[in-house]
Amino acid sequence: MEKIHKRNFKRNDKKYLLLFGYNQHYEESGKELKITEIPEPHMRWNPSRNEWVTYSSGRKNRTSFPPKEYCPLCPGKNLDFPTEIPFSDFEIAVFPNRWASFNSLSRNIFLDGVISRPSKGECEVIVYSSEHSHTISEMPIERVELLVKVWIDRYIELYKNQNIKYVLPFENRGEECGVTLHHPHGQIYGYPFIPPAIETELNSFQKENFLLKIMSQLETKYNLYQNDSFVVTIPPFARYAYEIWIVPKKQIEGPWKFTDIQIEDFAFCIQKVVKCYDNFLNKKCPYIMGLHASPNLEDNKFHFHVEFYPPLRHGDKPKVLAGSESMAGVFIMDVLPEESVSILKKYMS
Ligand SMILES: [Zn+2]
Repeated sequence: MEKIHKRNFKRNDKKYLLLFGYNQHYEESGKELKITEIPEPHMRWNPSRNEWVTYSSGRKNRTSFPPKEYCPLCPGKNLDFPTEIPFSDFEIAVFPNRWASFNSLSRNIFLDGVISRPSKGECEVIVYSSEHSHTISEMPIERVELLVKVWIDRYIELYKNQNIKYVLPFENRGEECGVTLHHPHGQIYGYPFIPPAIETELNSFQKENFLLKIMSQLETKYNLYQNDSFVVTIPPFARYAYEIWIVPKKQIEGPWKFTDIQIEDFAFCIQKVVKCYDNFLNKKCPYIMGLHASPNLEDNKFHFHVEFYPPLRHGDKPKVLAGSESMAGVFIMDVLPEESVSILKKYMS
């Protein structure tokens, strides 16, 4: 498979801007953004939910809904204003979020009766393209493959940081999912603990590989698409209408173990899912997408998979996580997973 290049550009604030591509990136930088004050996030233990809550009060100052002509993720060199990427072109760029919920500068706070911790970790932004309107469904498949390789690089590099216990690459798409910048991008969170949803999955996989157990059903009854390595499927226990998972047919702990063929097959599946959603709604479908990999680079129990949650109740009607979901953690569904399969199958062109 084609080799990729990685350039580590030192920003004016001494932070990194990584430029990944099939072509080597040599360009001299243009004007950079002004150095911004870095937040000092912290975490407080919520004894009621048994979980950490992260506070990053600087976040409310972050760029939201800028005027159409200003995009901080477009290449900035030839524009009248600086952006996050001070070059005229790039393939994929990764840099620390200026309004991070987890970073290395975080400091603890002291409040009587409250357990707190510094919010150490990393929050990165990953910009998929220099093209403002190219989402995963429009970009060439080679770019989606490059994206997978960048995720692999970030998994391996971020796990070298002793503070980071879990790496989660994810993407929020659409204003319905809280997106304030429309340029195609995702995020990578390096948490200083294993998040509760992953802890639960880890425990489940310790007991049994529930995905392998139902694999034949996933490949037949719930299947939307499959190739040699992966099945694109709706789990029979989905919590969202039109929830889709991409599941490797054999146990594998994370994408860092993929062969070249698996990287190609995986990229193809990701693009196929996004195209399916867009065909279904006949517009750019909002979704939350996340990669669930093992917290350990070696783990023969955890079964890697990707989950997509469109925030829809049925058809294009929005789903709000209301009383039962928010207060009790109990999802109430209008659409059966079996119905979702028959509906979405028509749009899996
Ligand atoms: Zn842009």
